[in-house]
Amino acid sequence: MRALVIGGGVIGSAIAWRLAGAGVKTRVYDRGQLGEESSWAAAGMLGPQAEAEGPGALVNLCLAGLDALNGVYRRLLDESGVNPEYDRAGLLWVALDNAERAELEARLRWQRDAGFKLEELTGAQARELVPALSAEVTYALRFAGEGVVDNRKLTEAYIQAAIRAGAEFCACSAVEGIVARAGRVAGVRLSDGTLQEADVVVNSAGCWASGIKGCAADGVSIRPVRGQILCFDAPADALKHAILSPRGYIVPRRSGRLLAGTTSEEAGYDKSVTLDGVARIASGARSLVPALGALPLRQAWAGLRPAAPDYMPVIGPSPTLAGLYYATGHYRNGILLSALTAEVIAGLIAGRTPSLDLSSVSPARFSADGAKR
Ligand SMILES: Cc1cc2nc3c(=O)[nH]c(=O)nc-3n(C[C@H](O)[C@H](O)[C@H](O)COP(=O)(O)OP(=O)(O)OC[C@H]3O[C@@H](n4cnc5c(N)ncnc54)[C@H](O)[C@@H]3O)c2cc1C
Repeated sequence: MRALVIGGGVIGSAIAWRLAGAGVKTRVYDRGQLGEESSWAAAGMLGPQAEAEGPGALVNLCLAGLDALNGVYRRLLDESGVNPEYDRAGLLWVALDNAERAELEARLRWQRDAGFKLEELTGAQARELVPALSAEVTYALRFAGEGVVDNRKLTEAYIQAAIRAGAEFCACSAVEGIVARAGRVAGVRLSDGTLQEADVVVNSAGCWASGIKGCAADGVSIRPVRGQILCFDAPADALKHAILSPRGYIVPRRSGRLLAGTTSEEAGYDKSVTLDGVARIASGARSLVPALGALPLRQAWAGLRPAAPDYMPVIGPSPTLAGLYYATGHYRNGILLSALTAEVIAGLIAGRTPSLDLSSVSPARFSADGAKR
């Protein structure tokens, strides 16, 4: 079995690791450098409950995503030799006024009704956990089992583990399109015109996935949603928990750096950092942790989240072309869902029936033809 994976972000790399580990001859093509798009730009929060806006398929998928990552994490460390600095100190949602508090109380109610665990804190209790928090924080929710990973190192870990398992990675090699023969995948055509043959192809090209030729019949449409991030230098341990609020979030790295985010913008494929974006993030972050205003601003960047029209990931087989699989559209949750996506795709390619109900992420939901199958 030969597999070609399009895209060497966190999703394609995780898939390559699982496929190569299962004995599949695997090669990944990336049109640029590996892991340097959305997977590089992310904040690395692993917060299925903290980030959930309501009950339903997405939160269930994200909870399964966290379980899947927890399940393979030790092995990934051993097999890659890379430490992605996964901290499980918990995530904290904070409220600075009554409207934000009411929003959090509603969140508490639906999550408790759904049987999820989370803790209510007063402002003082939240400040005991995070002394740098604003004195205006009056209420918080703590999501104890959740955390943060260094997404760049996680992607590197998947790449290294995949290479050690026998996968090949080809940077600066753009795939132009899927090549089909007699109704099934035959390989891919690279932009230099060469044909690379394969039994299966996985389209994990992030927000560029629907631009790959030969996929149009499936109607999978993925667009970029820009997110900007500011990065500050801070003493190590300045913040022990990632903090979220409607005003934005602050995520600590072990090095001491603090990431503040983010925006959600329809800006096409433009990865510019803008004054409006910087101003909005800085103002939100400073209202959460006032001391941030005096810290050196080290860097700012933007990345493009891959989003489907319904904001759900697209994971599974093409409804029209045997041997073609999609693993894209992870929007705000690609880091969190990387291990689960890889497990599902490797399982499907091996002919296993997934234990999860994948109907909400099925590529078939976009085409009338596919939906009937
Ligand atoms: C600001 C920001 C904050 C985020 N925070 C979080 C977070 O806290 N937690 C979380 O879980 N997620 C977060 N995300 C989302 C997460 O980053 C994405 O969902 C995830 O990185 C998607 O991974 P990917 O591999 O699909 O895409 P990418 O990382 O974009 O990788 C796609 C790859 O495909 C390659 N490619 C494209 N076209 C071709 C082609 N024709 N041929 C070959 N290669 C091609 C690209 O070069 C690229 O390397 C955030 C995103 C942003 C922007």
